[in-house]
Amino acid sequence: MEIKDQLYEGKAKVIFSTDDPELSVMYFKDDATAFDGKKKGTIQNKGVMNNIVSSRIFEMLAEKGVKSHYVEKLSEREMVVKKLEIIPVEVIIRNLTAGSLSKRLGIEEGLELKETIIEFCYKSDPLGDPFINEYVARAMGYATKEEMEFMTEVAFKVNDILKEFFDERGIILVDYKLEFGRHNGEVLLGDEITPDGCRLWDKKTREKLDKDRFRRDLGGVEEAYKEVMDKVLK
Ligand code: 5GP
Repeated sequence: MEIKDQLYEGKAKVIFSTDDPELSVMYFKDDATAFDGKKKGTIQNKGVMNNIVSSRIFEMLAEKGVKSHYVEKLSEREMVVKKLEIIPVEVIIRNLTAGSLSKRLGIEEGLELKETIIEFCYKSDPLGDPFINEYVARAMGYATKEEMEFMTEVAFKVNDILKEFFDERGIILVDYKLEFGRHNGEVLLGDEITPDGCRLWDKKTREKLDKDRFRRDLGGVEEAYKEVMDKVLK
């Protein structure tokens, strides 16, 4: 397989086409952004660590029957993925209160929820990924009813698997964001599953082991990403 042109450059990754029309290569950068790109920085070696973490998680999910765009880890910072037509709906799952939910409702972080929450956002940097619901997604043609139902089902299944996976490693999966895309008529899990898009807390100390360390200037960002990587590889 030969890597061809750059198709897209995002905040944390670059996507390249290949000589195989079915496949792309995803390159993981060390760049970190927060607050819709208003805060910019670098997390040393993040690209390498996120490629390792995401590859391991996609492999583990595949073993449990969750299909993603992941094909193989190509190099330190590159992953071969199936080419996707991205569905512009971000799917967020929350197991505990945190982040924008806490802000919106004026409640502290880390509270137990009576039920798992699913939320949808419209994937748009200029608009700051606004909150939408299923009706908006369908009415605007972002996704069909069947796609919304499928993404909901997969997001909850991924939650069951990931909650247990992290729990066994002494980590609480607080919340996370998933993205999906279409490939040959099939909806696949896309993007990455890493501390960039998940809130992960140490089970004993409740110390944050994710991008909130960068967002909130808590220090020890690289160390937290490394701790997650080491535990994911266990
Ligand atoms: P919140 O809505 O509380 O800001 O985020 C909820 C969860 O989804 C967090 O784990 C957060 O990391 C993830 N998330 C939400 N939007 C984005 C996004 O645009 N990019 C990334 N990397 N993660 C996001």
